[in-house]
Amino acid sequence: MSYDPRNLPEHPDFLWANPEPKSSYDVVIVGGGGHGLATAYYLAAHHGITNVAVLERGWLGGGNMARNTTIIRSNYLWDESAAIYEASLRLWETIEDDLGYNVFFSQRGVLNLAHTLQDVRESVRRVEANRLNGVDAEFVDADGVRELCPIINTDNLRYPVLGATYQPRAGIAKHDWVAWGYARRAAELGVDLIQNCEVTGFVKDGNRVVGVETSRGRIGAGRVGLAVAGSTSTLADLAGFDVPIQSHPLQALVSELFEPVHPTVVMSNHIHVYVSQAHKGELVMGAGVDQYTGYGQRGSFHVIEEQMAAAVELFPIFARAHVLRTWGGIVDVTMDASPIMGRTPVEDLFVNTGWGTGGFKAVPGAGLAYAHTLATGQPHPLNAPFSLERFETGALIDEHGAAAVAH
Ligand SMILES: Cc1cc2nc3c(=O)[nH]c(=O)nc-3n(C[C@H](O)[C@H](O)[C@H](O)COP(=O)(O)OP(=O)(O)OC[C@H]3O[C@@H](n4cnc5c(N)ncnc54)[C@H](O)[C@@H]3O)c2cc1C
Repeated sequence: MSYDPRNLPEHPDFLWANPEPKSSYDVVIVGGGGHGLATAYYLAAHHGITNVAVLERGWLGGGNMARNTTIIRSNYLWDESAAIYEASLRLWETIEDDLGYNVFFSQRGVLNLAHTLQDVRESVRRVEANRLNGVDAEFVDADGVRELCPIINTDNLRYPVLGATYQPRAGIAKHDWVAWGYARRAAELGVDLIQNCEVTGFVKDGNRVVGVETSRGRIGAGRVGLAVAGSTSTLADLAGFDVPIQSHPLQALVSELFEPVHPTVVMSNHIHVYVSQAHKGELVMGAGVDQYTGYGQRGSFHVIEEQMAAAVELFPIFARAHVLRTWGGIVDVTMDASPIMGRTPVEDLFVNTGWGTGGFKAVPGAGLAYAHTLATGQPHPLNAPFSLERFETGALIDEHGAAAVAH
């Protein structure tokens, strides 16, 4: 059958409407990734604020949200981090009912391997801290690791596996479905989701933001919330302040499809790889950031090579697997490996950034807290410790140990 392109029907609206921007909104959220979309949803659902626009320069959920490896866990070291990640994990546990949408949340557990005595000491310390914060965590020895993940090579490798921290409630979800679920519910509640709309500047009245300049014209705003991950420093620069983040490429890759062979999620800081098996059957692998800063959404080949070598060392049965595809995102890394969420030096302009390699898991909790901040102008107890001022006061929350190979 041949079609006359002039007679083709309009492309159907899929899950959410595609509105033209209005001249102004009570709240403008910049960035249509997981954080921006979740924030819009909680603004509407929890605060009744629906005169809201999410402005996305590309397509919804096409940034890091589309590129991450979906590990969800809450076993961070410090009280402040445990609070926000655990609040997030609890929201993950009810998210499908809240959104009326399947996000394939699978609580298959996460193992963080210990390969040296120092690793073991730090892991046990973190497990104890987790338990004090109500986070499910245990330390398992090498036999326990093999029981949870029989295909892992614990003995015959450079750094033998001595044990691991294990969080049974941790797991994975399907990232694109999470973005779509939040987008759909936010749109149903009245939020305008505007794609192909790049924010190029800020309109200020004195030191107060009153709108944004965009590729689709000027849009007025009562409050503006940035949720642009690796692009935050560029936008902050336009608004006239600095954020202490560096933007790095972070890569991941998937293999061809396999029968279920890998029942949990395994992360190794020392060997420097992490692996899970996606719902369809691909082995999903990642490692740390590429060390140079950049905005290219692609990284260096040697990083992929090293992460595959590490994966084969830990899982010898993967030796004959083929790589299907690799990709990269731009992650926003702070010097204490913790996020920044709250006020900026510009009145009514707020920032949510610095999630680095691990912000997917935080989407529900951070969205809830950021919505509170945008609705009230005040930090929520969950994000109060993660202010921009901590880099002046020195009240840093160093999560390098728990973030490590990241995610
Ligand atoms: C390879 C990789 C693996 C990862 N694995 C994990 C993991 O296993 N677990 C985990 O918890 N986290 C993981 N992460 C981190 C996680 O993906 C991010 O922390 C999280 O997605 C950040 O969400 P976001 O909504 O802030 O950013 P994004 O999804 O990047 O959204 C920001 C959006 O802002 C838009 N934007 C930028 N500038 C402008 C502008 N000027 N105007 C309008 N829009 C703009 C971008 O187009 C983008 O869509 C991983 C990241 C990568 C790259």
